[in-house]
Amino acid sequence: MRNGLILLLLTSAAVAIPSGAATTAWFGTPGPAPLSDPRAPVMKYDDAFAPLPVQFTHRPGKSDELLDAVALKADQKKIVGFSLESLAAGDKLWGRRAATPSFMHTIEWTVNAFKTAGLKDARVEPYAVADPMWVPTSWQVQIVGDAAFGAGTQTVTLQSAFPQPGGASIPGGSLTAPVVYVGHGTDADLAGRDVKGKIAVVRVRPEPSLFGAGEQGVALKVAKLGAVGVINAIEGPGNALYVDPRFACGTAPCFMVGGQDAWFLQTVIGKAATAGLLDKLKITLALSVEAQGGLTSANGVATIPGKSAKRIIVNAHADGFFQGGDDNASGLAVLVGLAKYFAKQPQPAHTLMFVASGGHHGPGNGPTSLVAAHPELKDGTVLILNLEHVAYADIVRGKVRAPDNIGMTWETSVTEAAKAVGVTNESPFLFDLWKRASRCYGVATYQSAGPTVTGDLGGYRPLNVPMTQMIQSGTFYHASGDVLEAVPAEGLERAARFHAFFLEQVDQAPESLVAAGKGTPYQPMAKACP
Ligand SMILES: [Zn+2]
Ligand SMILES: [Zn+2]
Repeated sequence: MRNGLILLLLTSAAVAIPSGAATTAWFGTPGPAPLSDPRAPVMKYDDAFAPLPVQFTHRPGKSDELLDAVALKADQKKIVGFSLESLAAGDKLWGRRAATPSFMHTIEWTVNAFKTAGLKDARVEPYAVADPMWVPTSWQVQIVGDAAFGAGTQTVTLQSAFPQPGGASIPGGSLTAPVVYVGHGTDADLAGRDVKGKIAVVRVRPEPSLFGAGEQGVALKVAKLGAVGVINAIEGPGNALYVDPRFACGTAPCFMVGGQDAWFLQTVIGKAATAGLLDKLKITLALSVEAQGGLTSANGVATIPGKSAKRIIVNAHADGFFQGGDDNASGLAVLVGLAKYFAKQPQPAHTLMFVASGGHHGPGNGPTSLVAAHPELKDGTVLILNLEHVAYADIVRGKVRAPDNIGMTWETSVTEAAKAVGVTNESPFLFDLWKRASRCYGVATYQSAGPTVTGDLGGYRPLNVPMTQMIQSGTFYHASGDVLEAVPAEGLERAARFHAFFLEQVDQAPESLVAAGKGTPYQPMAKACP
């Protein structure tokens, strides 16, 4: 009997040993997942249900097969390929960063596509970049192991840690400091917390994206309060890379970490605090950066001359972080598709000017440089249409509670994410056209619309002409999860066909309708859909 009990205890112990041995470290917390492969999607796309199909019929003699999903997807893949070229070249902040070789290849490819389509004046327009480019060369974020946290506790490197723009090289290469958790960084979160001399951890909830997150500016705020470094811990799927200057903290070393690293970091902070060992929990930050000056970036420009010299500008930024599948390979692919399509149509009433811009992520600003180089744009520009983030598959909170994160796991929807429609002058005619995006082309938009236009249009403001766009920023905005696959081909086609319709209508309409501001009486088009 006694032997039997001992045997039972031994058996229990034997069963417990493997998991026990694996989990005594870090208070029994499993180590963080590796970095999500930035070449592959974090989410499942085309899983049980495929994206909402397209059901457009070709119009005889219109060459509108140029707006087919397959053709647009091939161009988007080509554009994303320039980012992967940057990754393969060993760029640390990789993607289609303005003024870098991969970006210039993107612009050259676009201009060649314009030329092949028959746009005779297609050209690369270089511009000098005034400010130097911030280039991180090496970095590391480690949570320092201590036997007090459990037998076998080793120092952990957070593989998704990514430095935020502006951070200076750390003197001596690295610094180690105790941790302070500041929640979402509101004044309520910070009450009673001393961040001086510590590395602050901010929990960032990107809802719906980093663009909309309430924690923008918190990193800078806590650095000003004396934190020696900041880690923005992103609540997001997988373990992705993120970069966004709104989460930087001046010249202090400031990082973002992906969802799995964020969860591990937050969990061990909590367990250390519960065990009364928080003062022993330290983080080591390493960061080296350099500044590259004297750079040249470029816009790619081409026109289809109209019966009138008065012009409609169609813009898409060519720059982007990481793969930038939606931001903005989607918009650029649609721009190229529209140029090919309109090159095959009868001569338009207005001159169509296609701009693949140097963008606004820096260094430099494409639209600002274009406006400076072309004073003639101040006269005779009827409208500027921006193509930006036009077909991102919607990622939503799903149906299963996540075991290692807060709330529900994430799911990909069969539709694209809803986009915000902006018309700067709130022209009733233009809003009436935008109404057709969802009704006739299946393009998801918000039900509301307004005068706000974010993104690449900022640089065009000095022209003081009506500007319009639809735009969205989602879960993987400025993150390595914004991959080729995050944009359904069907969504590209929906966006391209709607924008072709939109441009045709604007081109044929009296200019007074485009210029007419909010409240101008307007009789909506009788036909719901073309
Ligand atoms: Zn962006
Ligand atoms: Zn963008």
